[in-house]
Amino acid sequence: MSDLTKLKISEARDALRKGDVTSVELTDACLKAIDTADALGAFVHKTPELAMGQAKSADDRIKAGGAPDLCGIPLGIKDLFCTKGVPSQAASAILNGFKPEYESTVTSQLFDAGAVMLGKLNMDEFAMGSSNETSTYGNAINPWRRGNDATALTPGGSSGGSAAAVAADLCLAATGTDTGGSIRQPAAFTGITGIKPTYGRCSRWGIVAFASSLDQAGPMTKDVRDAAIMLEAMCGHDPKDSTSADLPVPNFEAMLTGDIRGKTIGIPREYRMDGMPDAIETLWSEGRCMLEDAGAAIKDISLPHTKYALPTYYVIAPAEASSNLARYDGVRYGHRAKLAQGDGITDMYEKTRAEGFGPEVQRRVMVGTYVLSAGFYDAYYNRARKVRTLIKRDFEDVFAQGVDAILTPATPSAAFELGKKHVDPVEMYLNDVFTVTVNLAGLPGISVPTGVDSNGLPLGLQLIGRPWEEGDLLNTAYALEQAAGFVAKPTQWW
Ligand code: GLN
Repeated sequence: MSDLTKLKISEARDALRKGDVTSVELTDACLKAIDTADALGAFVHKTPELAMGQAKSADDRIKAGGAPDLCGIPLGIKDLFCTKGVPSQAASAILNGFKPEYESTVTSQLFDAGAVMLGKLNMDEFAMGSSNETSTYGNAINPWRRGNDATALTPGGSSGGSAAAVAADLCLAATGTDTGGSIRQPAAFTGITGIKPTYGRCSRWGIVAFASSLDQAGPMTKDVRDAAIMLEAMCGHDPKDSTSADLPVPNFEAMLTGDIRGKTIGIPREYRMDGMPDAIETLWSEGRCMLEDAGAAIKDISLPHTKYALPTYYVIAPAEASSNLARYDGVRYGHRAKLAQGDGITDMYEKTRAEGFGPEVQRRVMVGTYVLSAGFYDAYYNRARKVRTLIKRDFEDVFAQGVDAILTPATPSAAFELGKKHVDPVEMYLNDVFTVTVNLAGLPGISVPTGVDSNGLPLGLQLIGRPWEEGDLLNTAYALEQAAGFVAKPTQWW
């Protein structure tokens, strides 16, 4: 078989079972592709020996019969997941040299299913960012370019390495995490599919915490079917995470019929932004027509508190981050600053944190501690929590009116140039305008590549579903994917 790295999970699964290919061959092809793609900055720790060992066992297991769907499938893992004995740094200098003694629940479920880990993927430091520019490893680069223009574009963030790796066919799929859009936005910027499940679907245990009430893991894949297959393997109840839901995990792939007749799709009027490029506006109305042609009823809806979502998110997320990141003090693991004669424990904390955390992480810790401080707690943190409830209620109201899913743009623009927005944090935060509401409300959301802009860059639409109804959401996404027929791929320059 040729072009092994271009295979989707579903195709590789079937080829492995027919004996047309082995996991060792697939893995070897991915490892070779990774070695020629350093210019993308996607893989930051490569694990070829581990991968080959896993691939050999997967081949034996497939031969024996009855192996799970992900058996033998080579994946990339975001650096935010703790992987036993393998550097797991959350793209931060403060975790330099950290090799966990344990495996995150999500990665251990993937490995139990026989998946192969090719290595760890670049990301924004502690998943804070929308462009992968806050990483201690340097930028990840989008494999897509504006026509023949060689300007380097962001693959999005924070799961920028995951998105670049999947779009460039360095792996068959990757894990991502999403606190405010970090699966969906990079998926949209690179022409791939990314789903953030309902809060509580995937265990957060062993995933470096950013904002614990918002963080969720999810798959980043080449299509919706692969998202269904991989999500099923990633989610499930975990007693080690008290917020993980004790609910059965459906066979998501079996729910992909493409039949959405009788479904109602809401179009929220508040998601129309001033200055939004025409291409996004056009894409959104085309998506609306595609779902209507597929038999869904379209309903204009209102989510009135949307305008408060970004400020709410940028109070709650830093507040939780400032608390979660207090553990990085140079005492137990990771980086510890060199101390001068006479320095005490406070100097050690201060120097370690000043050296180890990058500027965006420091900004979030400062904002977070400020909004949680005694004098400002009610004015900021408590108020943000109340507004969060109102944002959640907006969604509950439209679902109660019979809306099954909500269609919005995934991002307010196509992938932008590296080095441009990084200078103004607020401009960067505006990127998350369509995605943060979904995390604040704990809902499932998926980004589906639906079209290209005038420069040939991919654009995505977002579908937001009812809680715990990822199967239904994936099926609506599948219908949209079929209608959109997005098949474009980046031209290889790396
Ligand atoms: N871009 C958002 C932020 O910087 C979301 C990040 C994420 O989802 N991890 O916080």
